[in-house]
Amino acid sequence: MKHQSGRHFLQIPGPTNVPERVLRAIDGATVDHRGPEFQEMSREVLAGLKHVFKTKAPVVIFPASGTGAWEAALVNTLSPGDRVLMVETGHFATLWLNMAAKLGLRPECIKGDWRHGADPAAIEAHLAADRSHLIKAVCVVHNETSTGVTSRIGEVRKSIDRARHPALFMVDTISSLASIDYRHDEWGVDVTVAGSQKGLMLPPGLSFNAVSDKALAASKSARLPRSYWSWEEMIAANQDGWFPYTPATNLLYGLRVALKMLLEEEGLDNVFKRHDRHAEAARRAVGAWGLEVLCANPAEYSSSLTAVLMPEGHSEIAFRKVVLDRFNLSLGSGLTRLRDKVFRIGHLGDFNDLMLLGTLAGIEMGLELAGVPHKKGGVQAAMDYLARGEAAQAAGKAKARAA
Ligand SMILES: *Cc1c(COP(=O)(O)O)cnc(C)c1O
Repeated sequence: MKHQSGRHFLQIPGPTNVPERVLRAIDGATVDHRGPEFQEMSREVLAGLKHVFKTKAPVVIFPASGTGAWEAALVNTLSPGDRVLMVETGHFATLWLNMAAKLGLRPECIKGDWRHGADPAAIEAHLAADRSHLIKAVCVVHNETSTGVTSRIGEVRKSIDRARHPALFMVDTISSLASIDYRHDEWGVDVTVAGSQKGLMLPPGLSFNAVSDKALAASKSARLPRSYWSWEEMIAANQDGWFPYTPATNLLYGLRVALKMLLEEEGLDNVFKRHDRHAEAARRAVGAWGLEVLCANPAEYSSSLTAVLMPEGHSEIAFRKVVLDRFNLSLGSGLTRLRDKVFRIGHLGDFNDLMLLGTLAGIEMGLELAGVPHKKGGVQAAMDYLARGEAAQAAGKAKARAA
């Protein structure tokens, strides 16, 4: 391949840009995972993670992609033939549903149009109709990465409570954790699933489960086979900072630095505000281009990515190829049902105003080069918004943060 000078713009919604400091921490010598230096680090990381999930419950770490943590959530808590209620918000929710079926569970699906989040009223109605409580878990994706739509997890909790249904509540936060406000304890979530390569600003390779007391209790009688994913051995070993098998030591060193940046140096609330602001600027650019954001409900706009509909008859695949070839900028593709219909702008992780403007400039020029009908001025609209003071931005932004 021909050398391209300058930095590659990795603006897919995960994996995201990894800060230099995190890369340097991962670059260190591999240590003895049964030695004192490792023990001290892992205790620090396990404690720090709880703040990111907003929980007092244990958070376990698997050397796996996010898909592994999906599987861990299901196999630790459920038994063969159990019914699980899944909400089809998009590609990732569908993959989780398919996994449940492959594991021998019986998924029941609330269908969706891929432009809205999970509907709390539909979940309530479905659970209320399950009078004998055959459904053992409700699974929702917090931020559907294929569509740029969030689900209101606090509202879904309330709908489960209104139906007086005892099902476990499981939430995938793989592309929202540490980018969009999330509260494992306050929202009464039983298993939260997360991954390292999106808001946590690490390379792929780690995934997480935050585990409530109720989920732990369910794991005692759950009968799906599990070994590698078993919480029991993991939580027991973690008490003293150890792992039941070799952890991804170097990624954990990176995680320690990422947690310090998120929790101590920037602060989670500021991290969320930064993501909200970049998402709003991106949507203003899309509006100025005369294009349409896929998410149909402003209360459900994602702050970690924006999916943009291509005008009828135009290919997002051809458009993204132009942008990559000419500007060394990677954008997210349209997945399954959305193939060749939307492109996705990732604006999560280690990101700032000028990186966003560079990304939007690449898109605006790409639209021109690919012959996609649009109006000029998207980058200008984003600049106008970003250059305004914080107070003016807060006042001008009626958007209710999805909760
Ligand atoms: C990325 C992603 C996944 C898949 O995670 P992998 O690390 O690729 O296994 C699942 N769910 C959501 C919401 C995601 O964004």
